[in-house]
Amino acid sequence: MNSFTFHNPTKILFGAGMADQLGQQVAELGSQTVLLVYGGGSIKRTGLYDRVIKQLHQIGARIVELPGVEPNPRVSTVRRGIKLCRDEAVDLVLAVGGGSVIDAAKAVAVGVPYEGDVWDFLLRKAKIEAALPIATVLTLSATGSEMNGGAVITDWEQNLKKSFSSPYAFPKFSILDPTLTYTVPANQTVNGIVDMMSHVMEQYFSQTTDTPLQERLCESILQTVIENGEKALQEPAHPEARANLMLCGTYALNGGMISVGMQGDWATHAMEHEVSAIYDIAHAEGLSIIFPNWMKYVYRDRIDRFVQFAVRVWGIEPEGKSDEEIALAGIQATREYFTRIGAPSRLSDLNIGEESLPRMAEEAVRFGPIGYFRKLGADDVLAILRMSL
Ligand code: NAP
Ligand code: FE
Repeated sequence: MNSFTFHNPTKILFGAGMADQLGQQVAELGSQTVLLVYGGGSIKRTGLYDRVIKQLHQIGARIVELPGVEPNPRVSTVRRGIKLCRDEAVDLVLAVGGGSVIDAAKAVAVGVPYEGDVWDFLLRKAKIEAALPIATVLTLSATGSEMNGGAVITDWEQNLKKSFSSPYAFPKFSILDPTLTYTVPANQTVNGIVDMMSHVMEQYFSQTTDTPLQERLCESILQTVIENGEKALQEPAHPEARANLMLCGTYALNGGMISVGMQGDWATHAMEHEVSAIYDIAHAEGLSIIFPNWMKYVYRDRIDRFVQFAVRVWGIEPEGKSDEEIALAGIQATREYFTRIGAPSRLSDLNIGEESLPRMAEEAVRFGPIGYFRKLGADDVLAILRMSL
């Protein structure tokens, strides 16, 4: 196990009905002018928008709105938000939505005190040194953005999708009310399941040794997602399934709590970002396609971890099988689960062909080789993307 420092400052309010705590939480922060960031309208259709506005009015807060945040949020939208904050002297950025809305809110919050253009942070040309306070009301279990300091932003004109991570971008508080996710459609529920499983697997497939607790934490989250994911798909308003998925999504990527002292991999996320930078597909669609192929590409580097994954997570019976067979059976079980819940398995299913793959591979390694389980160069990335066609 490696040495580590762990600090997660985000306060979590979890449970059915917790959305009604919003006003009090904002009042406790002492905020007077709130930038309300939201997406394409789901919060208006579900009535959450009215609940939010009512509570903010009750505490006398002034509201400035940034609506229309796109899935795969755009830097152009972030720039609009930054201008609004400066013009209106906003002192709290409140995201009400899924990961895209939260990520956009974080980028706005770090961009406001910075003199240059916010995209500098995504290109790693500048370091984040301050931010407006951020708070969230989560409506979709998936990214973990509600309890981490990361954000992923797209420059659609240049077809670049890049991320930043900063201690300044942790939300002050996040409201996790599972009842808000009952209206999430099946395809987005599937995306959430694949994204949270991918976050756990990125951390679990590590070369770090002597981490039994962290490994079991990862395995138990994966098992909980696998069981509750299918329940939520069968019954979208299943209270326990939605609550368990919400907790899993948040634990899966909250500043590394489940994988302290371990070096995670993250190559699959880096490869996926290049796909959704060019083709406007959901992040998790790309992950579902690429992850099992990354596994097939690298599993021999540490076959014991892949054997453990197969046996403990997927219940593969090891008796009479070689390590190679067990590891491959675990990878196959992952693919079959994704397929069973309706996630895609090939880039060609999404009309993505060979033509852009070399560009994606070059861009993926812009800041150097990716991945820690095995360091991947452009040739490796291209090979994995070709396996995914
Ligand atoms: P999302 O892009 O935020 O939302 C997807 C869709 O779900 C939107 O159309 C949204 O509609 C709808 N939706 C959300 N909540 C709903 C509800 N309660 N009922 C009905 N529809 C609802 O999805 P996401 O998977 O959470 O976020 C994906 C983004 O996060 C990607 O850009 C990905 O790269 C990024 N990401 C970030 C992190 C991180 O740590 N920061 C980690 C992984 C991925 P509306 O727009 O109308 O609300
Ligand atoms: Fe992700």
